[in-house]
Amino acid sequence: MEHNLKLYNSVTREKEAFKPMQDGHVGMYVCGPTVYYDVHLGNCRTFVSFDVIYRYLQYIGYRVRYVRNITDVGHLLDDGEDRMLKGARLEQLEPMEVAQKYTVGFHEMMRIFNALPPSIEPRATGHIPEQIEMVQDILKNGYGYEANGSVYFDTLKFIEKTGIYGGLSGRNVEELVAESRDNLKNQSEKRHPADFAIWMKASPEHIMRWRSPWSEGFPGWHLECSAMSTKYLGPEFDIHGGGNDLKFPHHENEIAQNYGSCQCKGARYWMHTNMLLLNGKKMSKSDGNTISPPELFVGDSEHVSKGYSPMVVRFFMLQTHYRSTLDLTDEALQAAEKGFRRLMDADKTLQSLQPDAAASPGPLDAELNSLMDGVYEEMDDDFNTPKTLARIFELVSRINSLKGGQLPISEVSADTLARLKQVFHDFVYVVFGLLDEDATEGNDGTLDGLMQLIIDIRADARGRKDWGTSDKIRDALKSLRLQLKDGKEGTSWGRE
Ligand code: AMP
Ligand code: ZN
Repeated sequence: MEHNLKLYNSVTREKEAFKPMQDGHVGMYVCGPTVYYDVHLGNCRTFVSFDVIYRYLQYIGYRVRYVRNITDVGHLLDDGEDRMLKGARLEQLEPMEVAQKYTVGFHEMMRIFNALPPSIEPRATGHIPEQIEMVQDILKNGYGYEANGSVYFDTLKFIEKTGIYGGLSGRNVEELVAESRDNLKNQSEKRHPADFAIWMKASPEHIMRWRSPWSEGFPGWHLECSAMSTKYLGPEFDIHGGGNDLKFPHHENEIAQNYGSCQCKGARYWMHTNMLLLNGKKMSKSDGNTISPPELFVGDSEHVSKGYSPMVVRFFMLQTHYRSTLDLTDEALQAAEKGFRRLMDADKTLQSLQPDAAASPGPLDAELNSLMDGVYEEMDDDFNTPKTLARIFELVSRINSLKGGQLPISEVSADTLARLKQVFHDFVYVVFGLLDEDATEGNDGTLDGLMQLIIDIRADARGRKDWGTSDKIRDALKSLRLQLKDGKEGTSWGRE
């Protein structure tokens, strides 16, 4: 099938036709978590959104190199303290112990949400030489200057040359200056308040430090993503993603650094997810308007009446487009739970539908095919998961009516029914990455698919009166404690 994939580019503020640099290949970089405390639900929303994008790109045939970093140095708090060092101070751990602890926790949460691991997961601390080299290149090209052992990016020079600083976030220089918060302590070293540190000299008490030509210090936060995206995806690559709170200063500064180090463009398409809200307000720990993933799963929070499973939460996230804010409320989760169950039930119903040997395809057949085409069209339109789901639910109501006899299966060709089973399965499990939580742990839909294949092979064998093959299948399944049940609606399977 031809796909005219369009995606919204935050730089041009338009939906653009997606044309990768190299036919059939996509390079995608997504800013990963800062591992100084437990990953929160907002982070999960962003990573689940990019997981679906990654899955869909692969599903439509691209070979994707997906790079998602781990930030374990350089990301400062408003008061200038490194987030990792704050974590270490509070927990009385080595910074690397903090990073390890929360990286493990992050991976576990991604597994719970069934997000695929990226192709490469580089750590900032594992790429200090690359970052030092980038600072050297920026200095060599005249886009940076050293002051007292720290190195700053010369923002005015960049604006003079390119006129583009602020393009991504839509801010002018004055606004950028007003918002520029980084490294407050050393403002006086900067030539211009909008300049930002790319290398910072470490104060005596700062434990995360590396030798460099300028001082013992550490890289600026923005630098890691420029250095690691260039290293693994090249000086120009296809997609760069992150939450929209990262547009400024992080992504603006990345663009400036890429240009400053090699006059390179970096990413061609910038994609930003919108924020997760709780009861209409920004999630915030300080005013109690927050809920952690484990609290949500078990229902241990004043914000929910009960627990919601990880797949219900994933489904809930997909019901909103990644560029819209997503408001988490108890009512919305209850509705999502019903929707998710309906979807899972429809899949089982669909598996039990058998084609009518004497079918003569009518308007219903055409309608089903056009709904299925619509499923792809909605996803091709900037990964519009809510509209894709709406099409899928139109299919769900047809599936239920076919089962109940309100719609005639005799008007659906065997090919269309087979396509319906395939499309339904692909979108629910492969693209949306949902899991059937009723099935055994570890079943990601593959088992259902394999069992359906075995049921089909057995039906073929029986059709040919090949009782040997049919018995062999039954016996082999028995030894795995799996059972086939032949009924009026066809054959189903279960565990003994
Ligand atoms: P951080 O660990 O703060 O660097 O964030 C990791 C990713 O999560 C970044 O892409 C952020 O933009 C994103 N993110 C942070 N807060 C939220 C939120 N409330 N909703 C959606 N994404 C978020
Ligand atoms: Zn980043």
